[in-house]
Amino acid sequence: MSRIVGIDLGTTNSLVAYMEDGFPKVIPDAEGHVLLPSVVAFTADGVLVGDAAKRQLVRNPTQTIYSVKRFMGKGYADVKEELRYFPFRVLSSEEVVRIKVGKREVTPPEVSALILKALKERAEAQLGEPVARAVITVPAYFNDSQRQATKDAGRIAGLDVLRIVNEPTAASLAYGLHRLTSGIVAVYDLGGGTFDISILKVKDGIFEVLATNGNTHLGGDDFDRALVDWLLADIRARHGVDLARDLEAMQELRLGAEAAKCRLSFEERTVLTIPFSQHGFTYRREICRADVEALIEPLVAQTLGPCRLALADAGLSAEQIDEVVLVGGSTRVPLVRRRVEELFGKPPHSQLNPDEVVALGAAVQAHILAGGITNMLLLDVTPLSLGIETLGGVMSVLIPRNTTIPTSAKELFTTSVDGQTVVDMHVLQGERELAKDNRSLARFELRGIDPMPAGMPRIEVTFLIDANGILQVQAKELRTGKAASIEVKPSYGLTDAEVERMIEESFAHAEEDVASRLLIETRNEADTVIRATERALGQGKELISEEEVGGIKEALAALTAVRDGSDRDAIREATDRLNQATLRLAEVLMDSALKAALTSKRVTEALEQKSR
Ligand code: AMP
Repeated sequence: MSRIVGIDLGTTNSLVAYMEDGFPKVIPDAEGHVLLPSVVAFTADGVLVGDAAKRQLVRNPTQTIYSVKRFMGKGYADVKEELRYFPFRVLSSEEVVRIKVGKREVTPPEVSALILKALKERAEAQLGEPVARAVITVPAYFNDSQRQATKDAGRIAGLDVLRIVNEPTAASLAYGLHRLTSGIVAVYDLGGGTFDISILKVKDGIFEVLATNGNTHLGGDDFDRALVDWLLADIRARHGVDLARDLEAMQELRLGAEAAKCRLSFEERTVLTIPFSQHGFTYRREICRADVEALIEPLVAQTLGPCRLALADAGLSAEQIDEVVLVGGSTRVPLVRRRVEELFGKPPHSQLNPDEVVALGAAVQAHILAGGITNMLLLDVTPLSLGIETLGGVMSVLIPRNTTIPTSAKELFTTSVDGQTVVDMHVLQGERELAKDNRSLARFELRGIDPMPAGMPRIEVTFLIDANGILQVQAKELRTGKAASIEVKPSYGLTDAEVERMIEESFAHAEEDVASRLLIETRNEADTVIRATERALGQGKELISEEEVGGIKEALAALTAVRDGSDRDAIREATDRLNQATLRLAEVLMDSALKAALTSKRVTEALEQKSR
């Protein structure tokens, strides 16, 4: 049997982990990077995923998709409010969200599948064996459609998704492995796009989720937006330019703001420098931690209400929480840590890397499923109430929120009109009284009821939620003995046939996708060396002989000539030759800034690493 991996499919970054010698470990890529940016770019030459996609975000903003997790399992109406924050185009279809890239349209599960595939390949390279089975985590608040969309993404990527696990539950597992004590744990998870709070009970190696709450639209991305808005106003005031409509400039600003925010988690002040050459100025600004804290304070405060609600749902007071666990990159922000500590009255645990803890927990869950750990049971809960619409447009709850799953519930209903032979079933999810205020999950009809006076038929409705949190609804008329039962498909819009088609397409294009990716990476590498060489030549060619300069120019011309071709080996060889030709120039350039220019790619990468 092949190994089962654990995958954290994040809004900002994704990771894959596996169990080795009793400990979960995250799997790095060939360059040692653990976090795969959840970014997918559709370029003229093919599809890029992760760092390569993120690097060209500024140049290709309309075809580069990030934060796609926000669109998973949603329709256009659900997301149209926040589209103004995204440079890519979402088609205004009613059903599933469709993103326009070039001449193609892609759905969020397809985009997520590309991310999952990259993680799958990474795991296969590390483990030296095919990986076909996975556990994938989702925010606790993901509804049925979003969970199903995540499972579909796995299928499209060629993964059998054995279990969908709530992220806070996975995090508790990762910690639980190290400290199998009894007590109540609060898991505070603030990532890039979502906030979750979960209250867990731990006893004798058994985890039980007592309550969950959160906000699917709150996270580090919002911190970035607050900072970007502030910077935009500052740029308007100081340079008289409004960059808000310039997509490229906005991306530069967003990336610059995020990097500055991350630095400010460890430093008191930092300088942001962004050249906006197209507008004829370079923006330079010192920012201190207090500036950012003032901007994000209201956002951090918004996490505290859900914490109090979760405590109330669990019937606990803050003092009864024994331990607090931090998850998600945004919990590195000192203000977040202070507020969490104030609320719960104790310092939060942060021993495990907050970016990795969910993936590590997913690997533990994978290990449990593989039979590796037998003394640990996992109980999860439904994040929202589930029910059906009854007379007068009222929601009648069958499964209240925070019910431990897997679970099922049965209830009897009847008709309201004499001789009624068809009953409309409308499946709902949410906490509001009226059906129209809740989320519509599915509609179906129960037909073939014998005509009877109103109130006579006995219609038994059964809700069944499996261990993944996926719902099935059945309706049966009992009085006549004639039974009809119906299975409800999630209503987020992808049909089975569509998913099958996507799977087939992904297989059909697998080879060319890999080839295009490699070609693009080779070209990017060539561009880096060409740029560095031009810069170095411009600044230090008098330090070496004319002959050497000639050699460099020749190698440069040779690389430029093959760069746009599709012969990857030729590009690589020409790049190596140019690298060789510039070695002496690099040695001669004692000025460290110029040296840095020649190795600019490596320096950039090192900085990127640091800022994570
Ligand atoms: P996650 O969704 O858990 O991967 O978290 C990603 C979010 O964490 C992004 O908004 C990042 O900007 C943020 N983040 C990562 N590192 C830091 C840091 N050092 N300080 C503040 N925020 C960070």
